[in-house]
Amino acid sequence: MVDCHGHYTTEPAAMLDWRKRQIAALNDPGQTPSPDALKVSDDEIRASVANRQLKLQAERGIGLALFSPRAGGMGHHIGDARTSADWSRVSNDMVYRVAGLFPKNFAPVCQLPQSPGVSPANCRDELTRCVTELGFVGCNVNPDPTGGYWRDPPLYDRSWYPLWERMVELDVPGMIHVSASANPNFQATGAHYIAGDTTAFMQFITSDLFRDFPTLRLIIPHGGGAVPYHWGRYRGLAQDMKRPPLSDLLRNVWFDTCVYHQPGIDLLTRVIPADNILFASEMVGAVNGVDPETGHAYDDTKRYVDAAALSDADRAKVFSGNARRVYPRLAGRLPE
Ligand SMILES: [Zn+2]
Repeated sequence: MVDCHGHYTTEPAAMLDWRKRQIAALNDPGQTPSPDALKVSDDEIRASVANRQLKLQAERGIGLALFSPRAGGMGHHIGDARTSADWSRVSNDMVYRVAGLFPKNFAPVCQLPQSPGVSPANCRDELTRCVTELGFVGCNVNPDPTGGYWRDPPLYDRSWYPLWERMVELDVPGMIHVSASANPNFQATGAHYIAGDTTAFMQFITSDLFRDFPTLRLIIPHGGGAVPYHWGRYRGLAQDMKRPPLSDLLRNVWFDTCVYHQPGIDLLTRVIPADNILFASEMVGAVNGVDPETGHAYDDTKRYVDAAALSDADRAKVFSGNARRVYPRLAGRLPE
């Protein structure tokens, strides 16, 4: 089983302190810490996941999580391109170490050094380093590096093309994932995340992105935002706009199962073909509590997929078969 959506939300304090020092130095660049200044021992890393992710994986019967830096922590809107480059390096190197210590539990997925007003082409070197030198299997792509203000160009803008080209060359998919919201109108995990997911899908409908990149693979997390629930609206809009049918987009787009209740998963699995659904929990992450109506953790998503009206073959695709296709670099990390 592959959980395609996990973040390192239990970072050692030293890593968060490094980031605090980096941000504090924005007005005093002489104090900027170098990426090498972060010192964390392997024991500290082991301790950071032992009683959280590893324990939950064992309890819930989840094999391998695709593990990326904390999404809300990417903070692309903070500082400039250099700030993001250093922070991405620190964050990716930490995720790499976690995955190195627990290769059966985690496969690394990278954060990109995006920055407002800076071409995503700038992310190519870090992506290449992570994939070719460190064995990362995918990346997170922030559709709004301005943190809730949406001032940068949409995903189909030509400025994104060099990044898409590199992802295709390296054969790695991207999860479309916003970071923290700097705009008080949008609470991060409940509003900005879901709006980001939905916005990205509409950008795909109105553009020729996948005509230009027929093998590009993108995952829309959090169950696809509002998309599956409003599938009829999007089908109708595509038709009105003389755009191709949504089924064409399903050659390039997948949805995860981070929908934290049974009716949501029932709808997702009824509307979206099983070939386009990837199992995910986003634990330990967005929602940590226990649902008093069921007595189970909201993010114990395996339970919902187990109970969904899927054939055994389709359930196997959702749990791992699709992930192997979407993340070909997982080969070798998984049992046959
Ligand atoms: Zn996430």
